[in-house]
Amino acid sequence: MKKLLLLTVIAAFLISCNGNAQKKSGEDTSKNYEVSKSEAEWKKELSSEEYAVLRNAATETPFSSDLLDIKEPGTFVCAACGNELYKTKHKFKSGTGWPSFDRAIDDGVAYGSDSKLGYQRDEVHCARCGGHLGHVFNDGPKETTGKRHCINGVAMKFKPDSK
Ligand code: FE
Repeated sequence: MKKLLLLTVIAAFLISCNGNAQKKSGEDTSKNYEVSKSEAEWKKELSSEEYAVLRNAATETPFSSDLLDIKEPGTFVCAACGNELYKTKHKFKSGTGWPSFDRAIDDGVAYGSDSKLGYQRDEVHCARCGGHLGHVFNDGPKETTGKRHCINGVAMKFKPDSK
């Protein structure tokens, strides 16, 4: 009986340690986004490409996005939660192969930092669900904001104004 009790205590201890470890390694669990889902739920809802970019901060292949050449007036929304992120009127041709904007819709996005490539970059993500969108650089159009929001097309969907 004593042995059983001891085993139970050890098992409970191991489970609790594991639980803490998972919390530490999981991303963004400390932030409370308005739209908050488990990774399992996101995996189910998103395509594998969307999941890789939005949840694991992957970068899509340049020139692969259908949104690259869109010029018609409209709004680019988060592919995960539908939050409005960018307007066509702030889109510009950067030549990088990723949809590029000189500014975001106010409060649509939030910023973090990323040193994955060995230097600091301003990371940009959806303010509502935390989904990774891309990065912001200071080599945008000088005549407007000077910023270049370099965004993965797969992280967004386009809603034309006309529909
Ligand atoms: Fe979102």
